[in-house]
Amino acid sequence: MTDTTSSRVSMPSHGTDWETLSAQMNEMATGDVKWREGKTAVYVFNAGEDVSRVQKEAYTRFMSENGLGPMAFPSLKRMEEEIIQMALSLLNAPDGADGSVTSGGTDSITMAIKTAREYARAKGRLKPGCQGNIVLPWSAHPAFDKAAEMMDLELRRIPVTDDFLADPKAMGEAVDDNTIMMVGSAPCFPYGLIDPIAEIGEVAAAHDVWVHVDACVGGFFAPFARMNGADLPAFDFSVAQVHSMSADLHKYGYCAKGASTVLFRSAELKEHMIFDTNDWPGGRMITPTLAGTRPGGAIAAAWAVMNYLGVDGYRDKQGLVVKTREKIEAGVTALGFVVIGKPQLGLIGYRHPDLDSFAIWGKLFERGWFTSIVSKPQGIHLMLSPKHAEVADTYLADVEWAMEQVRGANSPAEQQEIRYGG
Ligand SMILES: *Cc1c(COP(=O)(O)O)cnc(C)c1O
Repeated sequence: MTDTTSSRVSMPSHGTDWETLSAQMNEMATGDVKWREGKTAVYVFNAGEDVSRVQKEAYTRFMSENGLGPMAFPSLKRMEEEIIQMALSLLNAPDGADGSVTSGGTDSITMAIKTAREYARAKGRLKPGCQGNIVLPWSAHPAFDKAAEMMDLELRRIPVTDDFLADPKAMGEAVDDNTIMMVGSAPCFPYGLIDPIAEIGEVAAAHDVWVHVDACVGGFFAPFARMNGADLPAFDFSVAQVHSMSADLHKYGYCAKGASTVLFRSAELKEHMIFDTNDWPGGRMITPTLAGTRPGGAIAAAWAVMNYLGVDGYRDKQGLVVKTREKIEAGVTALGFVVIGKPQLGLIGYRHPDLDSFAIWGKLFERGWFTSIVSKPQGIHLMLSPKHAEVADTYLADVEWAMEQVRGANSPAEQQEIRYGG
């Protein structure tokens, strides 16, 4: 059954020494974005060499250990519990709240939805045979669509307001007896704006519906921005109707990849997340999240970074990010761009009122900048890290250059599809 015409790589018959492989991998990486130089403002969070060292050493120390077995690894169990407690206190959760470490934001959101569905079934709200639905702003992350597809739920994406925020009233009108969850983001990814969570909470309370706050990108940012004096709206468990939150450690928590948190107002709510089965020959298996095997490295690195930075460390870093965002905001505004909405954290979308923003993005890409985009209105998107403080001036100079290039071009730029993933 050998296919001689195939260009498929087959496993080498003999092994290769690590030095050779390491050199090969470095060679492969030469085409990657130059994030270490601060030229990437999506996918990667660059908090500096020292944080990176803590991530790496903690990760490798526990990379073979498995969070699936808390009896075997009480170390990981303890680290997970402490991570969750730190997250819950930052997000104003009441006593008795609980949560789990997951592999990422998509995992956290999926588990929150699964939990809300089980809860709705247990309460008799979602009747057998009925399809549940989720009411969410148009700006919410596609992770909700993915989870809804897997669980055969209907998503009701409601247009955002002229300020690019969730529209609680319109969302309320979309709620019916089969609604298992209403969602707000803190902030949403595309605009970097915090939805009016308190107002969503009020509407949801009137309908007795579960509220999930997607704080994947803001959960470990907004609390520190507030401590630094930012006037943020209520976005966390301080809003009584908030049942669950997702907050990613591997974003502004500056932890190694593969770590997020899903949090619940009470341990009773979290009970609906737990999967527990004994109907197979391998012994009873209890797992809190989607994963079976859970990478010890990701949990250990998260615990280590949180304790390495502490509140002061996060305040410094998030303060630097906010300053950089303000600087870029002022810089692009002076160049004639318009900032989309009123960002308060580390993400910003901006667009040119007359020129093609995607063409400007393309010119910036030529100069080595890799960022995301906003599709409606069409704009350029930045998710800033502490490292960007060092390159903000260069970036602004390149934006000005890119703008002049696009202005001077006598034919419109070829439209290319700029993707967030894939
Ligand atoms: C990143 C992000 C997610 C998804 O998280 P992953 O870790 O990429 O799975 C969900 N919601 C928001 C607002 C995000 O920024």
